[in-house]
Amino acid sequence: LSANETMLFVRSLFDYNPEEDPAIPCRQAGLGFKSGDILQIVNQEDDTWWQACRHGDSNSRAGLIPSRQLQERRVALQRPKALFKPQRVPKKVTGDDLSNKPPPEMGGATQTPTYLEVAPYCRDPKEGRRLVLLVGPSGVGLSEMKRRLLLSDPDHYGVPVPHTTREKRKQEKDGVEYHFVSRQTFEMDIVNHKFLEYGEHRGNYYGTSLQSVHKVIGEDKVCLLDVQPHTVQRLHTTEFKPCVVFVKPPSIQELRFSRRKATFISTQDMTKLTKTFSEEDFEDMISSAEAMDSHYGHLFEMVVVNGDFAMAFNKLRAELEKLETAAPQWIPVEWTS
Ligand code: 5GP
Repeated sequence: LSANETMLFVRSLFDYNPEEDPAIPCRQAGLGFKSGDILQIVNQEDDTWWQACRHGDSNSRAGLIPSRQLQERRVALQRPKALFKPQRVPKKVTGDDLSNKPPPEMGGATQTPTYLEVAPYCRDPKEGRRLVLLVGPSGVGLSEMKRRLLLSDPDHYGVPVPHTTREKRKQEKDGVEYHFVSRQTFEMDIVNHKFLEYGEHRGNYYGTSLQSVHKVIGEDKVCLLDVQPHTVQRLHTTEFKPCVVFVKPPSIQELRFSRRKATFISTQDMTKLTKTFSEEDFEDMISSAEAMDSHYGHLFEMVVVNGDFAMAFNKLRAELEKLETAAPQWIPVEWTS
């Protein structure tokens, strides 16, 4: 590093192409990047244009990128236009919707997606493994991904045992499929904030406790959870250092081609079921993914596009294996201080 270079690293939260930017002082001097790239900011003296290199790109020279301030201004200027876009009517919430607080309008921490300051992190073997949170719209295949990861290496991956107030079925064992508890106990646990998330389904409560997550981590396994994005915020702490994986649908054309009929495994009796998706299901999946990305994108460390399931699954597994190597992982800087 030369005297005026900084050790400031950021994860970019938007795509940037200097070729398409009429405001850049010199196009050849610009540095293009994709959302998710790690950039080293080498000079921040100018309020409007920073100089940065792309990390991991050995012959990347420093180039101009929009400063945080400029990008925030650009996003703010684009916002009023969005108000005139036709809005989709949110899908009706059905009795099968289990999440306790699904915010249809995605309220919560909206952050202008610019740059997130990150720092390199190498796992200390004395620390528990990083929690892995799978996030994505309904129908994108989160539970199937979780199930296949578990099957692929049951000694390495684990899932928390949820609580429920429903009757235990004949073949089930308390503490294996679920912790079976009374409504009274469940409601007390809600009051005492023991659940990360809970919901009601066909008159019964279901929920995942913080303690059940700690149990899996304590067994030195990678704890897998598929959660609503607002639950990610609760777990986005130094203690868990979650690796948040956003599983997103491919284009609508690809969905039409590959997902008219999807097979999945019933959680009730492990039989194979076939679901036929409608055009409206595809549109909902895509608009819900877009809303998640724009409100919670700053929390996502990995993005996997689930067009072809086998390819998406292999990519996810390969990415998660990287968490086990000595290579540094880029995590929010506040988790390292
Ligand atoms: P079952 O009663 O057939 O075992 O499960 C019924 C539904 O409860 C399934 O769709 C299952 O995914 C859901 N479920 C199981 N555990 C949890 C949980 O911890 N939280 C929530 N919100 N739903 C759950």
